[in-house]
Amino acid sequence: MRRWNGWGDESISVPLPKGATEFLAQAIGKPTPLPDARLEDVLTKVPPSRLPDHPLIIKDPERRIRHARGQSFPDWLALRSGNIGTFPDGVAFPEDSQQVRELLAFAKANGIAVIPYGGGTSVVGHINPQEDNRPILTIDMGRINRLLDLDEQSLLATFGAGAAGPDIEAQLRAHGYTLGHYPQSFEYSTLGGWVATRSSGQQSLYYGRIERLFAGGIMETPQGPVSLPPFPASAAGPDLREMVLGSEGRLGILTEITVRIQPLPQRETFHVLFFPDWQTGLERVRHALRTGLRLSMLRLSNHTETTTFLNLGGGRTTLSILEKLLSFRGARGEKCMLTFAVSGTKRLHKQTIRNAFRLFRPSAGRTVNRILGKKWMENRFRSAYLRNTLWEMGYGIDTLETATTWNQVDHLMKGIEDAICSAFSAKGQKALVFSHLSHLYPQGSSIYTTYLFPVASTYEKTLRQWAQAKNAASNVIVAQRATISHHHGIGIDHRPYLVREKGKLGLDAIASVCKSFDPQGIMNPGKLVE
Ligand SMILES: Cc1cc2nc3c(=O)[nH]c(=O)nc-3n(C[C@H](O)[C@H](O)[C@H](O)COP(=O)(O)OP(=O)(O)OC[C@H]3O[C@@H](n4cnc5c(N)ncnc54)[C@H](O)[C@@H]3O)c2cc1C
Repeated sequence: MRRWNGWGDESISVPLPKGATEFLAQAIGKPTPLPDARLEDVLTKVPPSRLPDHPLIIKDPERRIRHARGQSFPDWLALRSGNIGTFPDGVAFPEDSQQVRELLAFAKANGIAVIPYGGGTSVVGHINPQEDNRPILTIDMGRINRLLDLDEQSLLATFGAGAAGPDIEAQLRAHGYTLGHYPQSFEYSTLGGWVATRSSGQQSLYYGRIERLFAGGIMETPQGPVSLPPFPASAAGPDLREMVLGSEGRLGILTEITVRIQPLPQRETFHVLFFPDWQTGLERVRHALRTGLRLSMLRLSNHTETTTFLNLGGGRTTLSILEKLLSFRGARGEKCMLTFAVSGTKRLHKQTIRNAFRLFRPSAGRTVNRILGKKWMENRFRSAYLRNTLWEMGYGIDTLETATTWNQVDHLMKGIEDAICSAFSAKGQKALVFSHLSHLYPQGSSIYTTYLFPVASTYEKTLRQWAQAKNAASNVIVAQRATISHHHGIGIDHRPYLVREKGKLGLDAIASVCKSFDPQGIMNPGKLVE
């Protein structure tokens, strides 16, 4: 069963090794955890539903709690404290496009606000009901999750939009194909959610972001269905598919999605290696991109992230052996970790590995890199469970991400980290702040920053502390004309900063597109644009 107030399946917990607890205590102190609310108590807070009856709508309070919040840090605090605020008035689980159409017609006729819901893994408030005089209906797409068509000649597969990562890969792998889209939330996030938020998977370097994988589909809107044929390319004016990407449930509900697929790679391996310092890593990675090295993933961690990863991941003995080995090979003081993957035919794989080692000239040899690479791959989705472990120890954790051109990457990364550290230190608090570059392009890169901090003495103070850090970092991002999000989207948390990026005219244009598909403004109100 999925946790109602944390990440993942209740039966899975990922403990930290003993040395990790000491590492954190030394870096940011040993906090007192905040008390968690019990589900039984939150159930008593759910108000009566305002929705008229409909055979597809469930008004059960527990379902409404489980669909009230996503996975952002404010969501986390709301769920853990039990102060959730607004709940959806009901949840529907349609089984096909026809039922979605029926629900939208019902909503339109009765003045009901609608929230399309994929896996509920949004980290920016996308699926949270906002206070509204209208009743609020959440439409959970989870039952529309089957492979509907496989066109092997065209390398296209059509799925129900509620298919989650494991549903998609299992159904494609049975035929020898893959989509290759692996966000860290893979276990729960869905195809519809990926398209609606413009998500990016860990191996985007090879398979591409969701924009490259999304070929077409069907979107049900309050004004009727919109069909998006999977043309390989088209010059027939602006592409409607571009409007749907990143639309965050504001235009309608995607019910069927056609994606571009690939044959499963014959061979795929993950590797971890170390550079003596950040600048060396940066130069070698940029050089590798220019030479067109066919890697499927490239992730360069800065020194603090490298140290944190090694301390949180390994036991004391492993860490000490590894440190000795790295030091012997020249990766001492400011070492930085590079994680990369190679996918493809056996021949291409062999060639690429050879070229990668020639270009990267790492400090530590191949033995270390395969062991750590394998470990990284095995834990690629499990590390999200550490949020639960850390919370129970009294630590909050959040991440933020942006993208900018290479001439700004270094400066911006430092600016974001400094802004977060200063926001915490202004309140006499410490934070462990670190970053990596995870989606790299010849022109620039995403920057992904994690901040880990002791909770304050109350939930309210912890939220204020988080908001100050988030706001400080977001202001640095927009001031440097970087994007407010490379892959998490806008939702409600990034909305205040969007005008700096798009301008008022740009935002008005987006709002008028929403209005064309949804003149009454019933679709996911308050998200993306006012
Ligand atoms: C631990 C963790 C790790 C993450 N890692 C990544 C990562 O590596 N890469 C990344 O890009 N993101 C990541 N995310 C963020 C999140 O998983 C993505 O934004 C994801 O795309 C959301 O998908 P979802 O199905 O959960 O959508 P939801 O959270 O349910 O919804 C997100 C938005 O999409 C809309 N929507 C959902 N389904 C439909 C539909 N069928 N039609 C129309 N609109 C729809 C919703 O209305 C909402 O606005 C992570 C989140 C967590 C908690």
